[in-house]
Amino acid sequence: MPHQHIEPMSKLIVFCAPSGSGKSTLIAHAMEQLPQLTFSVSATSRPPRGQEQDGVEYYFLTSQEMRRRIDAGEFIEWCEVYPGRYYGTLRSEVDRLLAEGKDVVLDLDVIGAENVKKIYGSQALTLFIQPPSIEELRRRLTARGTDTPDVIQTRIERAEYELSFAPRFDCRIVNDKLADAQQQVVSTIRQFLSQS
Ligand code: ADP
Ligand code: 5GP
Repeated sequence: MPHQHIEPMSKLIVFCAPSGSGKSTLIAHAMEQLPQLTFSVSATSRPPRGQEQDGVEYYFLTSQEMRRRIDAGEFIEWCEVYPGRYYGTLRSEVDRLLAEGKDVVLDLDVIGAENVKKIYGSQALTLFIQPPSIEELRRRLTARGTDTPDVIQTRIERAEYELSFAPRFDCRIVNDKLADAQQQVVSTIRQFLSQS
């Protein structure tokens, strides 16, 4: 019998967190530490913010184009995260990255995370990043200085709703001291990727 080399199956790592919890900071660190990770770029009907570029943070589509692709079944999952604002994971994007043998990072809302877990089961790890408390989240959003008090209040209310989903995730990481959270994220992903 010739020796058969079996490639380990590529996996999916889904990050989810209330806005302001430090998700972007933690994703960036994990991707720096673990070069086998690659980011799945989602499609959205919201307009680009700041320096965002098409094909980098998102594929920016018109609402019409987004709906056409939803109807055509091009998304693994999609969600209207805010009224009139659609977000979705393109099947073509994830399939391409998995076929390249990469492990794929997804940044999804709570519903999207649950749907991906339903589809991929043990091939996917769902990570929920939590702020130490709602008060601390409010402090960080205020300190970030990008939102008005009204917007901050909306984000806090949504955070309370999203936090109620935390128990359903494979793993919860509290982002209190950043260095500790970064280390926990990296070691959790490493361990998951090393399982067959
Ligand atoms: P998200 O992507 O979840 O919206 P960010 O990564 O943008 O969050 O972080 C929100 C703000 O909080 C940023 O200004 C970031 O520098 C800061 N931040 C992230 N982690 C911590 C931490 N552990 N302690 C204090 N501030 C933090
Ligand atoms: P933002 O507009 O701040 O970039 O993202 C808003 C929310 O949409 C975040 O919670 C983000 O995780 C989520 N999101 C981004 N892409 C997708 C996606 O493809 N599917 C789902 N379900 N949520 C997404």
